[in-house]
Amino acid sequence: MRIHINDVAVRDGFQIEKAFVPTATKVEVINQLSRTGLHKIEVTSFVSPKAVPALADADEVLRGIDRVPGVVYVALVPNVRGVQNAAATAAKPDELNAVVSASETHNRANINRTHEQSLEELPTMVKVAHGAGMKITMSLSTTFGCPFEGHVHEDVVLDFVRRFRDLGFDGISLADTTGMANPRQVRELVRKVLEKFPAPDDNYYTLHFHNTRGMGLANVVAGIDAGVRSFDGSISGLGGCPFAPGATGNICTEDMVNMLEDMGYDTRVDLAKLLAVARRIPAVVGHDVPGQVMKAGQTLELHDPPEFARTR
Ligand code: ZN
Repeated sequence: MRIHINDVAVRDGFQIEKAFVPTATKVEVINQLSRTGLHKIEVTSFVSPKAVPALADADEVLRGIDRVPGVVYVALVPNVRGVQNAAATAAKPDELNAVVSASETHNRANINRTHEQSLEELPTMVKVAHGAGMKITMSLSTTFGCPFEGHVHEDVVLDFVRRFRDLGFDGISLADTTGMANPRQVRELVRKVLEKFPAPDDNYYTLHFHNTRGMGLANVVAGIDAGVRSFDGSISGLGGCPFAPGATGNICTEDMVNMLEDMGYDTRVDLAKLLAVARRIPAVVGHDVPGQVMKAGQTLELHDPPEFARTR
């Protein structure tokens, strides 16, 4: 079974790093990731440079990268202004990703808008994106829980999914922004979403998990059981959310690929190449990273037996 793997590290990961990652380094990492077999790469965001200084170089990043055929290059957009800016760049992204939080408080913290203000802008965002020849998907943040409000009611999630579909978004990502989801919850909620609003194709729904409480990969398995075939990860496990307390770490892309390939799923990702990128990241960000397979090696990367086993 084919599972699509997307990487968000250059956007979701680098944006919370204290030190600015130079544009040339971002471009290099994206170019390396482009040749690993990933389906989508989230490369930047058209947000206010005042709000997220780490992503002020969106234009330069998009102009600098090599576009490998078959890879979808994505940029995050928080509002109409972001879509307009993306549409005005010389090297447009293939796809935009808009964000609304299921929780009102997180929505205000994350994109400085009430739900009402966000929803008002969405039709224009879709129109401008499609008018400029770009796809646009929607991420529902805090789908599985909010760090400020706690539990998010299922009906709230279902209602947002219905609205996004009706508005003509090209895909919907359900995001566990601060790592509050557990596998049972994922299985039950995602099943309900897919039953009520069946996916038109394998990529329509994406799940975006953070490993904040160590449940990230378990949630991926639950998501596959529920019928989702597309997942976000972050190379070496970088990431978090600058507007949500304690939201460290997306699930690690190469750990997810290692698990899924071991389980017999077809990710089309070259794990050795992906690990080579991951092993560069500590030097890029200047600190240790959460990825585990990059340290332990692939499951079937065998070791020489200790000396006693070889002598009689
Ligand atoms: Zn995230």
